[in-house]
Amino acid sequence: MYDLIIIGSGPAGLSAAVYAKRAGLNTLIIEKNPVSGGQIINTYEVDNYLGIPGVNGFDLAMKFREHADNQGAEFAEGDVTAIDTVQAGNDTQAPIFKVKTETSEYETKTILLATGASHRKLGVPGEEEFTGKGVSYCATCDGAFYRGKVAAVNGGGDVAVEDAIFLARGCEKVYLIHRRNELRATKILQDELMSLPNVEIIWDSIVNSVEGDDKVNKINIENVKTGEKSSIDSSALFVAVGIHPLTDAFVKNVETDDNGYVIAGEDCATNVPGIFVAGDSRKKRLRQIVTAVADGANAVTAVQDFLVGKK
Ligand code: NAP
Repeated sequence: MYDLIIIGSGPAGLSAAVYAKRAGLNTLIIEKNPVSGGQIINTYEVDNYLGIPGVNGFDLAMKFREHADNQGAEFAEGDVTAIDTVQAGNDTQAPIFKVKTETSEYETKTILLATGASHRKLGVPGEEEFTGKGVSYCATCDGAFYRGKVAAVNGGGDVAVEDAIFLARGCEKVYLIHRRNELRATKILQDELMSLPNVEIIWDSIVNSVEGDDKVNKINIENVKTGEKSSIDSSALFVAVGIHPLTDAFVKNVETDDNGYVIAGEDCATNVPGIFVAGDSRKKRLRQIVTAVADGANAVTAVQDFLVGKK
């Protein structure tokens, strides 16, 4: 019987693992991917995590994992398929949950959902067909394939602008297609983007479809203000239109907002006693590494409070 099972090993889950081990909680972290770190393993540079400016996302993830390992955290690989309530809790008795993966079952008194978020799709013709053949959701993973070529990025947030900056280092030309006439990204990133001679921003425009033969060669766009339709010759489309939470087919009865983000305050406690949420899948204003890490710490404090006086 575990005191706490953490589902997910991104910054929120790993932070929680460190705090939980230091608090003496018998803890298991279940991770779906063989590499811990969540979204940051695909981030080439993290420039706003206090004290380590410019750190590579993968390197930071490895540091987080090493920290959890050094505390003696126990990890299991698995895709959680269901959470069942074996016994409801009360003032003196902890609840018992059964967490099931495809191959194993674990019992625990509390659960921390730290499953994060994944890339949102455009849902336009050609997107699925050409995924892996020019359509990508990760510039740092696939950008090198388009060295010396023309590539496009869709979106106006931090990820889209970071992707465009990254691609501009190797591509002949980069188009940034954005549906409005101002970017959502942080000003410092916008300034860097604007300084690059081989980046062209296509404002007020959406992607209607992606075309190609065996690989992408054309992106069809539409100006949302004028209705004018046009095409860009491009070998790639990097889709960076945000993320959506991964909570989850397996979570029953946990209250979410309309977009699927789990509702919980700073203590990360959901409406289900014994189930907590941390990181990008929690409904909150700012989704960054620093807020995910803070959630992990706060959640474990709330888990400890929850377990006090319960067997
Ligand atoms: P985001 O900030 O939500 O931005 C998504 C962008 O995609 C927005 O510009 C949005 O347009 C656009 N968009 C959404 N749906 C669209 C659609 N169907 N068609 C076309 N465009 C669409 O998401 P993100 O850039 O993936 O970032 C996710 C979170 O991670 C954010 O909180 C971000 O700050 C954080 N992050 C931080 C860092 C860092 O601190 N270094 C790096 C990366 C990400 P509108 O602007 O019109 O809404």
